[in-house]
Amino acid sequence: MDTRIYLDHNATTPVDPRVLERMLPAFHRDFGNASSRSHAFGWRAQELVETAREEVAGAIGARPAEIVFTSGATEAINLAIRGVAEASTARGRHLVTSRAEHSAVLDCARHLEGRGWEVTWLDPSPTGRVPAESVAAALRDDTVLVALMWANNEVGAINPIAEVGALCRARGVTLFTDATQGVGKVPVDVAAAGVDLLSMTAHKLYGPKGAGALFVRSGEPRVRLVPQQLGGGQERGLRAGTLNVPGIVGLGAACRLAVEEMDTEGPRLARLRDRLEERITAELDGVHLNGDRAHRLPATLHLSFDGVEAEALMLAMPDVAVSSGAACSSGSAAPSHVLRAMGVPDTRAHGSIRFGLGRFTTEEEVDRAARLVVEGVRRLRGTSPATPASPDASSRVHS
Ligand code: PLP
Repeated sequence: MDTRIYLDHNATTPVDPRVLERMLPAFHRDFGNASSRSHAFGWRAQELVETAREEVAGAIGARPAEIVFTSGATEAINLAIRGVAEASTARGRHLVTSRAEHSAVLDCARHLEGRGWEVTWLDPSPTGRVPAESVAAALRDDTVLVALMWANNEVGAINPIAEVGALCRARGVTLFTDATQGVGKVPVDVAAAGVDLLSMTAHKLYGPKGAGALFVRSGEPRVRLVPQQLGGGQERGLRAGTLNVPGIVGLGAACRLAVEEMDTEGPRLARLRDRLEERITAELDGVHLNGDRAHRLPATLHLSFDGVEAEALMLAMPDVAVSSGAACSSGSAAPSHVLRAMGVPDTRAHGSIRFGLGRFTTEEEVDRAARLVVEGVRRLRGTSPATPASPDASSRVHS
C-alpha cells in the first residue's frame, strides 16, 4: 500500500485519468501533424487542436483565436515579456513587476534590465499581495508593460488584477498576468479583468507537462508581440514549431474539467486546507500563516514553524510530500525570494512549509498529514510528549 501523501500540487499535479483518456488517441490513431493540410490525418489533428483552443479560451473568457499554444508557462512568459519589449521600444523602456513573481518573470525582467530597460520592482504587502496603489504609483509616461501574477505559487496570495487592469487600460499600458496558479482554481476572466496577455500551463491543473498557452488579446489597441521562436509559422507566426497535439488536447480537457468542477472543488479544497491548518494549530504553538486569508488560492497553505528547519521537518515526515520555498528553485538553501519580499524574517522563512492540496486529496490524508506534521515538529523542538526521538531520526535531523 502506498502510504505517501502528495501535498505539493503547486509544483505539479497528476494527470486526471479523464484527461489522459482524451489524450491517448492523439498519440496513435489521431497522430497527424496539425499543419498537414493535404490529408485527413492532418485535418483530424487540426480539429483536435481547435477543440482544445475553444476549451482553453472558454476557461478564461477569451476567444479561441486569442490562444497561442506553447510548451508551458515559462515559454508563454518569455513570449509575453520579451515579445512585448521587442515590439515596443519606440514607446518606452519601462517595465513594472513585483519581487514575488515566478523566476521565469524575474529572469525576463532582469534580461531586459541588462538591455537598457528600467524595471520598477514592487514589493508585495506582508500578506503577499501587490496593492493596485503600488502599481498606480509606479506607472510612468514611458511604461510599456506591467507584469503581475494572478496568484502566487508559494503563498497563494491573489493579486487585485482587475484593479490593475483598469489602471493599465486608462494609461494605455499593456498588462501581462502569469495566471499559471490561478486558471482552473479560481475564476479568471480576461475581459472582465482587462488583461492583455496571460500565461498558463497544463501541469498545474491535472493536465500533462510540456503544454501551455499564452492568451493574446485581439482587437484595438493591438497587442504587439515579436515572436521568440522562428520556423514554420504555426500559431499565426507567434510560436513556430510542430504542435504538441496530445499535450494540447490534454490542456483543453484539463481546462474544461477544472472549470466545470470549480464550484464544488474550490469549497471542498478550502475546507480541507482549513482543516489541515486547524489540526496543526490546535496542537502546536508558534505556527504562523504566510499569505492572505481573504485573497488566497483555495488549496494553498503556507506555514512557518518556530524553532524548526523546514528541511529537517520534511526529513522527519518522509511520507508527506510538501515543499519549502519554491519547488522550481529548491536545491538552493537561500530563503524563498517571495517570503523575503513579503518581509518574513529569514529565520522564520527557513522554518516554512508549503502545503498544496489537490483534486485527489482526501480528508483522511489531511488528518494523517496533520498528525505527522505535529509529531515531526514536536520531535524537532524536543517537546515530544512520548519518548525522545529515535536515534535514527535524530541523526538524520542533525546531519
Ligand atoms: N509561473 C508560475 C506561477 C508557476 O508556478 C510555474 C511553475 O513552476 C511557472 C510559471 C512555470 O510553468 P512551466 O513549468 O509550465 O514552465
